[in-house]
Amino acid sequence: RMRIAVLTSGGDSAGMNAAVRAVVKAGISKGCESYVVREGYEGLVRGNTAPLTPRRVAQRHLPPERLARFSNEALVKNLSFGEGPALKEGAGDADDDEEGGTLKGRYIVQVGWDDVRGWMGEGGTFIGSARSATFRTPEGRLKAAHNLIKEGIDGLVVCGGDGSLTGADRLRSEWPELVQQLLASGEINEHQAALYSHLKIVGLVGSIDNDMALTDLTIGAPTALQRICEAIDNINSTAASHSRAFVVEVMGRHCGWLALMAGVSAGADYVFIPEQPPKSEPWEEEMCEVIKRHREVGKRKTIVIVAEGAHDRDLNPIKAEKVKEVLSNVLKLDTRVTTLGHTQRGGRPVAMDRILPTLQGIDAVNALLEATPSQPSYMIGIRENKILRIPLVDAVQQTQAVAAAIEARDFAKAMGLRDPEFDQ
Ligand code: ADP
Repeated sequence: RMRIAVLTSGGDSAGMNAAVRAVVKAGISKGCESYVVREGYEGLVRGNTAPLTPRRVAQRHLPPERLARFSNEALVKNLSFGEGPALKEGAGDADDDEEGGTLKGRYIVQVGWDDVRGWMGEGGTFIGSARSATFRTPEGRLKAAHNLIKEGIDGLVVCGGDGSLTGADRLRSEWPELVQQLLASGEINEHQAALYSHLKIVGLVGSIDNDMALTDLTIGAPTALQRICEAIDNINSTAASHSRAFVVEVMGRHCGWLALMAGVSAGADYVFIPEQPPKSEPWEEEMCEVIKRHREVGKRKTIVIVAEGAHDRDLNPIKAEKVKEVLSNVLKLDTRVTTLGHTQRGGRPVAMDRILPTLQGIDAVNALLEATPSQPSYMIGIRENKILRIPLVDAVQQTQAVAAAIEARDFAKAMGLRDPEFDQ
């Protein structure tokens, strides 16, 4: 029986819970044991140091017929999260047990079918996400490898952004070396070294930014876009009523997808994105000209969207406050800045952020079951509405190539790499 673990890493995004649910349920239904790793790579590095909390902690809260459907650790997880079906029905606070009902000291936890019930429509990630500095170090990754082998995990699904998948690719490429080191230091025996000589790892892209190359859509991006649209719709009504200008700053890190798509969906006048800065210098003139034209043809409101990573052709950041100053001073528009902040991260996933993680989560499990040492590790993507497997290393490299092209101020190349259909 294969043991499959899933973790969520980096910035949270809507649909991560649905991804975990899909991997857990697909794993169990295909005869595997399903595990979750709490707190992203940090949990992998910390592993399990405390013994399993006894089943009787849960027995106090659950009727026996329900109990049978949970694994030992899963019961503890439900008590600790306080979110699962068990606690909703039962009473009691896990912390009042003298032996402790929490998951303290346990990061790699087996879960049962019922543990992920109701997770499909919930935002964020229940199993926690973290940014792990330790996992960036060789010692951290060695500990992570050791913990995976100790817990007998032979398949790992990582759901995260480009950073997390870069980390996954790194773990994959270093794996044979890590196993040899663990063997040499006596942490694992010959049998384990042979059994775990090949790391089966699959990436799911969970990111609100839609910033991963070689896939059309990342888990969480549609929900973030939806939230941004709703916010701009609200701004639009007041802007039109008062004939005002609004500058809206949206998230996206180094990627302009959210800003660009929000601009299209909300009828913005001007959008600043990192991949394609304004064509002329200084950018102020170009923007003012466009907005003036829109006002002249009768538009009562002005919306300018500034992506988080926007900059001019010399890579100087373009910030919302600066844009506001220009609109106020040059065009004499009554201008306000709106920063949407963390509301953009999502909350309840829209339908697409349930469909995408579900279909991709199932394929992630299939990819693990079919993995052979001679094949590359995959990232599960979607292109032209088809779920497909893309070599993880290619996706990571191409994403880095986009960043490098922007850094080198080759903006046409950046757009072309991000979107091969892009036509200057
Ligand atoms: P995201 O996955 O949302 O892009 P980060 O870039 O913060 O978020 O990456 C999440 C985590 O992935 C980091 O905290 C780190 O543990 C791991 N990671 C990122 N890049 C690397 C890398 N080059 N090598 C090893 N681990 C990495």
